[in-house]
Amino acid sequence: MDDIVKLKPARTVAHTRPSREEAEAAVKTLIAWAGDDPEREGLLDTPHRVVKAYEELFGGYGERAGETLSRVFNEVEGYSDIVVVRDIPFYSHCEHHIAPFFGKAHIAYYPRGGAVGLSKLARIVEIFARRLQTQEAMTAQIVNAIEKGLRPRGVAVMIEAEHTCMAMRGVKKQGSSTVTTQFTGQFRESSEEQTRFFNLLRSAR
Ligand SMILES: [Zn+2]
Repeated sequence: MDDIVKLKPARTVAHTRPSREEAEAAVKTLIAWAGDDPEREGLLDTPHRVVKAYEELFGGYGERAGETLSRVFNEVEGYSDIVVVRDIPFYSHCEHHIAPFFGKAHIAYYPRGGAVGLSKLARIVEIFARRLQTQEAMTAQIVNAIEKGLRPRGVAVMIEAEHTCMAMRGVKKQGSSTVTTQFTGQFRESSEEQTRFFNLLRSAR
């Protein structure tokens, strides 16, 4: 339980983290609110499991994107052209309904003097996905983390996602996907660079 107390929120907000027992009691309340009996056999351990799952699903609050990008490899034989990592799968939760949204993130950057391990970019996506999010904010946070960590000549991020809060409730639009993009540096300045990015995402797989 000690490790939970150490977790820090993404933004420094003055709030006290509830105890595990309080969190489990809250889940029990929601089960009863949904209309079921939290004391029936199949649901007895559910509050415990949900709170445990939350530790993993929202584990991004305890991690720093800056640390992930701190190791830059300079031995790239002078490579300075575009680096694209596409189809990075992610699962996140919308901050309005705590309903899952999931999809793929695509990241490109123009290195300046060094490259980062490709798995680190996937890790950055994971850190921000495992928080309560909006797709727009998550897109911007990924861009900003790469900007800060790598100081590249430009970053492009595109996220395509399906939001279950839209598919399962409210307007009940299934199969629709939401696309967000954000560009910095060379990508922002040149529409040709943006086109190149989109073409590389579409090219043969
Ligand atoms: Zn939502």
